[in-house]
Amino acid sequence: MNFEAVKKKLCTAGIENASSEAVMLCEAFQGTALDEAVTRRCRHYPLQYILGKWAFYREEYEVDESCLIPRSDTEILVDLAINILPNGARFLDICTGSGCIAVSTLKNRTDTAAVGVDLFEKTLALATRNAAANDVTARFTPLLADATKLPPPHLSPFSFDAILSNPPYIESKILATLQREVQFEPRAALDGGDDGLLFYRLILENWSPLLKKDGFILFEIGYDQAQALQTISAQYGYTCTVKKDFGGNDRVCILKHAD
Ligand code: GLN
Repeated sequence: MNFEAVKKKLCTAGIENASSEAVMLCEAFQGTALDEAVTRRCRHYPLQYILGKWAFYREEYEVDESCLIPRSDTEILVDLAINILPNGARFLDICTGSGCIAVSTLKNRTDTAAVGVDLFEKTLALATRNAAANDVTARFTPLLADATKLPPPHLSPFSFDAILSNPPYIESKILATLQREVQFEPRAALDGGDDGLLFYRLILENWSPLLKKDGFILFEIGYDQAQALQTISAQYGYTCTVKKDFGGNDRVCILKHAD
């Protein structure tokens, strides 16, 4: 199949950026492998999973069905972390997924160290490979743990400078209405419970005691969740400043102790 044929097939299947996707598929595959890749993509299987890698921030990440696909919306959170983490900071990345938040931050702030938390062994192994591929292994500690429960006791209270997290934040009932591609991503990385806010509450409840007194939290949020986050933050004694993403939507909350 040549480029024009690939593009036409993608177009017919309703793929939005058919032209640029055709370029990427033709660069990555040839012959039968290309045919198979195009067939999968025409069923709206995510391009990123087909390629097996995706660019995020200034890095490249291995991606598979065990992780949420890194999105450019999240780059603002990484930008903030790189700019405001104190010297020699130690931070948590809760729900690390592909590891993109922790690894891009570590890569661009070589004085810092991170613990990347995920619930799934396969996902954590992927994050660990991404840390290795980006040369930050020595400063990345994978931790298998449930973000909704208490952290393991070996993590001491008041020992972290920051918590970074892009937790699942979609309301359960909205999930089925999202685009076809999203349906192939792990539900556990998307489903934020009945009101989409479950992880924010439970991370504040269970993990925020690990923060130093002047520590802060960077939460990625949905475009319509800023007000709810402000209310929840106040309940836990935090102020909440909202930052917009490059698309102009509310995207990141910076939480600091109110006193
Ligand atoms: N932290 C990862 C990311 O930003 C995964 C987030 C998630 O699984 N909800 O892509």
